[in-house]
Amino acid sequence: MKIELRVCEHCLEGDRAHQPGERKTAVLNDMVACAERIDTYKEILDLEAVHVRKVRDDEAGRPAELPVVTATIQNDQVVLNDTQLVTEGQDGTMLVYVNPADILAVLAGNVDEISKALNEDVSVDISAHGAELLS
Ligand SMILES: [Zn+2]
Repeated sequence: MKIELRVCEHCLEGDRAHQPGERKTAVLNDMVACAERIDTYKEILDLEAVHVRKVRDDEAGRPAELPVVTATIQNDQVVLNDTQLVTEGQDGTMLVYVNPADILAVLAGNVDEISKALNEDVSVDISAHGAELLS
């Protein structure tokens, strides 16, 4: 299986230009922390690849590996979503998650599986905002 997390670098860093708000920035950082933890232990879950694709206003383009970008229509224009999680299974089926609560649940679930497999707590310190989404 392969995993690719797509996030907005401006919002991740709390860049005022995007006005992400404390909550979005915290949750994006939780997602990235979980994905990086999964990447560190990816052989435990037999994952082929874990990508964290950070997009910017001047570079909102292609995914790193899994070629899916979701979009929404805003003011009659196609806008690429800057937060999504794509997983690709052995049979090539891709699952795309766009709901932040779902994305964090999938990522945190994988970290939990690693902890169980290792019989060691490798969990990430999730922010209060992230914990609220997971509850
Ligand atoms: Zn942003």
